[in-house]
Amino acid sequence: MNPPEWDVIVLGAGPAGALAAQQLARHRLRVLLVEKRTFPRWKVCGSCLSGVGLRALEQAGLGGLVAGLGGVPLARLRLGLGGQGAELGLPMGLSISRARFDQALCGAAQAAGAVLRMDTEATVTAPCTGGRQVLLRSGDHHWSTSGRVVLLATGLGSPGLDQSLPIRTRIRPGARIGAGCRMAGDSGGYAAGTIHMAIGRHGYVGLVRNETGDLNLAAAFDRAHVIAAGGPAAASAGVLADAGFDPLPEAEAACWRATPALTRRCTPPSAERLLLLGDAAGYVEPFTGEGMGWGLVGALAAVPLVLRGQEDWSVAIEREWSRRHARLIGSRQRLCHGLAFALRRPGLSRRLLALVARWPALAAPLFHQLEGATLEQLSLDPWP
Ligand SMILES: Cc1cc2nc3c(=O)[nH]c(=O)nc-3n(C[C@H](O)[C@H](O)[C@H](O)COP(=O)(O)OP(=O)(O)OC[C@H]3O[C@@H](n4cnc5c(N)ncnc54)[C@H](O)[C@@H]3O)c2cc1C
Repeated sequence: MNPPEWDVIVLGAGPAGALAAQQLARHRLRVLLVEKRTFPRWKVCGSCLSGVGLRALEQAGLGGLVAGLGGVPLARLRLGLGGQGAELGLPMGLSISRARFDQALCGAAQAAGAVLRMDTEATVTAPCTGGRQVLLRSGDHHWSTSGRVVLLATGLGSPGLDQSLPIRTRIRPGARIGAGCRMAGDSGGYAAGTIHMAIGRHGYVGLVRNETGDLNLAAAFDRAHVIAAGGPAAASAGVLADAGFDPLPEAEAACWRATPALTRRCTPPSAERLLLLGDAAGYVEPFTGEGMGWGLVGALAAVPLVLRGQEDWSVAIEREWSRRHARLIGSRQRLCHGLAFALRRPGLSRRLLALVARWPALAAPLFHQLEGATLEQLSLDPWP
């Protein structure tokens, strides 16, 4: 029997997969990073990196990456609901287009020695001697390879998991879907440096200007409402109008993309020689804009386990990943579940908004939770 071809195969080159590949390549492992799309690509995302994500990049030795790409510092959060509004100061955060950010992270992984294969779809299959097998497909070409450890960071879409694996995705009943588009030019009263968040009965719309000056729109809606409204552009126009925000007629002609149901959980987030990272392990709808941060933190937290698993894999590694994931990511997601609950109750959201409009300091614990993770609190094994 041949030994596995790679030390690690990472499926999906979003923030979680690319950072994990970069870190493991820095440890001189033979890393294959497989991505089904061709970069740069646009993606439905609010494009805001929170303090948690920025600190994770700092810990990875990529502290200046986003600012170097022209990331726009975020100073304010503007909330609107039923004509009522509030403006709050943000402690930190940067907006950056996913096209540029994801490509730069992939570049960092390659610079560290990872081999990147774009335009290739991967599926994790059975364990093999000392590793796990992965099927690859690019156009009409199919082949298989193997890695001592496989990291699955394929996001919300195609899971990349063979049906025989004992990992199940549970989608929360009534989970909202995501939708988004980008608009060039100087549209409406949407200043740079501010996250503009319009909240409606059936969803919310976030707008931010990124480093190109484009306005990025990312929204979460009840699926039935998008259908009833006649599409995401109309659903979004309704939310902006209800919130008292400027209309965006150019959104009508923009190229929209949608996501599958957002709130979900994969259990367990591991199997023999396989760990799930980022959205692939579980996600909660995006009001607080933390998903990239969760993915980046998860990537850092997985590295020591992948290193340990190179010599000898044991069930203890799988259990440790479930524990780490619940402690680092699950605990942060609980706050988002709470917010998602409040946002579906217009009376409660209106009262909360009125409170923070009057006493902005009331939002401080929320910002502290979002931005407050220090490297020590992340308690990850330090970079040697
Ligand atoms: C409306 C909305 C707004 C959001 N706003 C924010 C925000 O402001 N800030 C924030 O931090 N987060 C935000 N998020 C969340 C954020 O987009 C995700 O959490 C983040 O992209 C997760 O990163 P990831 O690496 O896990 O997955 P992804 O970024 O989804 O990357 C997965 C990659 O895997 C590839 N792939 C999929 N299947 C395969 C396969 N079988 N083989 C090979 N490759 C494959 C995909 O093409 C993709 O490139 C938002 C999400 C939504 C829906």
